[in-house]
Amino acid sequence: MKNYDKLIFELSRPGRKGYQLPADKFDTDGFAAIPADLLRKEMPELPEVSELDVVRHYTNISNKNFGVDTGFYPLGSCTMKYNPKINEEISAMPQFAGLHPLQDAETAQGALEVYYNLQKALASLSGLAEFTLNPYAGAHGELTGLMVMRQYHASRGDHKRAKVIVPDTAHGTNPASAMVAGLEVVEVKSKPNGSIDIEDLKPLLDDTVAGIMMTNPNTVGMFETEILEIADLVHKAGGLLYYDGANLNPLLGKVRPGDMGFDIMHINLHKTFSTPHGGGGPGSGPVGVAEHLVEFLPNPRVRIADDGKFYVDADDRSLGSVSTFFGNFGVMLRAYAYILTLGRDNIVNVGPMATLNANYIKESLKDLYKLPIDGVCKHEFVFDGLADKSTGVTTLNVAKRLLDFGFHAPTIYFPLLFHESMMIEPTETESLETLDEFIDVMRKVAEEAKTNPDLLKQAPLTTIISHPDETSAAKNPILTYKALKEA
Ligand SMILES: *Cc1c(COP(=O)(O)O)cnc(C)c1O
Repeated sequence: MKNYDKLIFELSRPGRKGYQLPADKFDTDGFAAIPADLLRKEMPELPEVSELDVVRHYTNISNKNFGVDTGFYPLGSCTMKYNPKINEEISAMPQFAGLHPLQDAETAQGALEVYYNLQKALASLSGLAEFTLNPYAGAHGELTGLMVMRQYHASRGDHKRAKVIVPDTAHGTNPASAMVAGLEVVEVKSKPNGSIDIEDLKPLLDDTVAGIMMTNPNTVGMFETEILEIADLVHKAGGLLYYDGANLNPLLGKVRPGDMGFDIMHINLHKTFSTPHGGGGPGSGPVGVAEHLVEFLPNPRVRIADDGKFYVDADDRSLGSVSTFFGNFGVMLRAYAYILTLGRDNIVNVGPMATLNANYIKESLKDLYKLPIDGVCKHEFVFDGLADKSTGVTTLNVAKRLLDFGFHAPTIYFPLLFHESMMIEPTETESLETLDEFIDVMRKVAEEAKTNPDLLKQAPLTTIISHPDETSAAKNPILTYKALKEA
């Protein structure tokens, strides 16, 4: 094994050091300042390495990573768009990074203004009255939004409303969030084209329905054209409409969930608004609501006084708080920078370009890959594996082979509607050349499936680890050095 494939614990040599403590504060063992009764009895098992070992180790690990900054990453539903570097510059400014959440609002006016303005920008992009930026992720936003839903029904004494309707194509977090929120999940079926079956929905709509969770375009990337009728039916039954806006990308500045009849939604800043995710950093899942639900949003709120000063407020009718302080402020700064960089005139181009890119790939490959739902998609689409099933080559084999060509695999085996799902989302920031390169490789892989299926079943051939035992990796993960030594 080469040194750069070793764990940092394996590089450890007793006594090797990469640091020096200030001599006036510590004795030679580094313990003088700590009272004896607080000292641990045994040394912790920390790696002992030089500074150079540490630098090489982590630099090599970072080089093994795959990210948007290293290659094309068409992971459907995840919107792996480029994270512009100006976002990083702004969020790292000491004027922001050095703030403390407990400092007096008077001394943090700039940060509060960013919070306030971002919340307003999201409200105007989504057609809802107000937003909170406090939730930490999409799923956390869902939970917060569903708590708003519960609080609304409870405030009206309507306690029997405990059911949430979720389509069978929904993202897994939807039913999970509903369960965590203490609501019962009822599934509504999709039609073969992936849209909600209204005839299946109607009988579910009674006075125990708290609401419905939907996304539009739906999980297979198709626009629910009957959304106004669905909204009308749900509202007439006394329920609320929740919009999963994790993937707002195709609609940005063009179509607004509020105008479709949705009452509550969350947005993933770490997808649509270009902030890092997928191991690249913390997330943020702002929640927006229609006028009649504003009072239930979580505390703390950021408000503006008549004299133009921003202040921090709490509302008694609120569902309480869902985060420490205001959520992930560094992420908000990045999203705000992104919105201002694009501006009102350019933000409307994001959706059409993402949509064009997705359709370009789909049309260029649909002769070789099975397209179960034909038609113009939005920002993403789903293939059901290779068109020619006789080779025995699966979606998993194709996904792994793509790694050999330097591409991240698409989302696979989701949605569950099809056996061999392969969900592709290019996003708007990819050039024509990158899309063409991907299309060429996908065509080459389809050809290999015919000429050399065994090769595909062994792929990837160029990665450090080729074929982990996925079941053991998921069920018995070895996550610590101690576990490795014992294994
Ligand atoms: C990503 C995603 C979520 C969950 O967002 P997290 O930030 O990962 O919790 C929810 N719904 C959809 C449709 C998504 O794509």
